[in-house]
Amino acid sequence: MAEEEATRLQFNPHVWALPPYNAGMNVDDARALSGRDEVARLASNENPEGCSPKVTEVLREMVWEPWRYADPACRALRAALARHLRVDADHIVVGNGSEELIAAVSRAVLQPGDQVVTVAPSFGLHEIEPLACGASVVKVPMSDRLTFDVPALQAALTAKPALCFLSTPWNPVGPALSEAQLARLVASASPETLLVMDEAYFEYADEQGPDVLQALRASGLPYVALRTFSKAYGLAGLRVGYAICSHRQIARAMANAKTPFNVNAAAQAAAQAALADQAWMRASVQRLRAERERVRAQLGQQGWRVAPSQTNFLFVDTRQNSVDVAERLLRAHGIIVKAWREPGYEQFLRVTIGMPPENNRFLDAMRALATPSAMPELPAATGEAA
Ligand SMILES: *Cc1c(COP(=O)(O)O)cnc(C)c1O
Repeated sequence: MAEEEATRLQFNPHVWALPPYNAGMNVDDARALSGRDEVARLASNENPEGCSPKVTEVLREMVWEPWRYADPACRALRAALARHLRVDADHIVVGNGSEELIAAVSRAVLQPGDQVVTVAPSFGLHEIEPLACGASVVKVPMSDRLTFDVPALQAALTAKPALCFLSTPWNPVGPALSEAQLARLVASASPETLLVMDEAYFEYADEQGPDVLQALRASGLPYVALRTFSKAYGLAGLRVGYAICSHRQIARAMANAKTPFNVNAAAQAAAQAALADQAWMRASVQRLRAERERVRAQLGQQGWRVAPSQTNFLFVDTRQNSVDVAERLLRAHGIIVKAWREPGYEQFLRVTIGMPPENNRFLDAMRALATPSAMPELPAATGEAA
């Protein structure tokens, strides 16, 4: 193909300079590279069990009018969420995935030169969307114990950033803020800072953990809590997330910032059916939590350092460039995982909890890797790891 001539267009410099989003590998590419049909897709934190059968039923039986625009305000879904959450529907905004709402809240609040605080390692869009708005992003590294560095976050909050993005439970690491940690952060935040708590893994969090929404509400601070149907509810491909806002004004600004017909008709109907079937979601979460703890324990026995997790994934220190590990897992075992690329965290990989046979395949592959030759920094392997 001929080399394309450069355009003379002036691009928005903030957008042109954005780092790419590190998405999981395409399954067809993975099949080609591994030479296997049956690839274990453990890179995107999807629900390996699928979704509630009530959702597939609704999608099958729905009376379709594809020529009609769907409700741009998602009234029926917002009403259902309002009842479920005991929140006023005016405080809820529905997005094309919570990703769209990360963009919308950034656009709603940020002006060039503003400061945003988040953590490192971070969920890519918590950095990318503020950068696209011309804001600067301060990232507070995780502690040596693979969890939130609360004193450092408190210090960052005292500088009164315009916005603070935290995910709890934390993607990609796994832990959730404890009640005491949350209280300390809230106490250090200024009413000039919008606290965005991304609760994409809310449903997987331990029951004994704090009620983040209640704590934020009690603080009187401006906040947005983000949740999604993509993870525990298993609707990643349909794209539905929602924001719960402290103030009607914040919801209004976010609604202004999103695209008008952002959530399609099938997605709105599916999300309502998913929300109505709490029993399916809870049972799925129970099984995946048990699998997570089984996989975590086995990785520990093999000698790997793994962060504590209240999610459907694990963050593993491979003690070598995790791109090499991910490559080996793919080519030799047909497993897709996510090698972390953020500077300082390039030896970590994030693996989603799949179905038990997929997890076993991953554990076998990691056991094969945990040998002195593959991992020179590790002392001679113990009996279990041999
Ligand atoms: C997966 C994920 C999202 C994106 O969810 P969608 O609703 O599918 O857009 C947002 N935030 C975090 C922290 C996630 O892990």
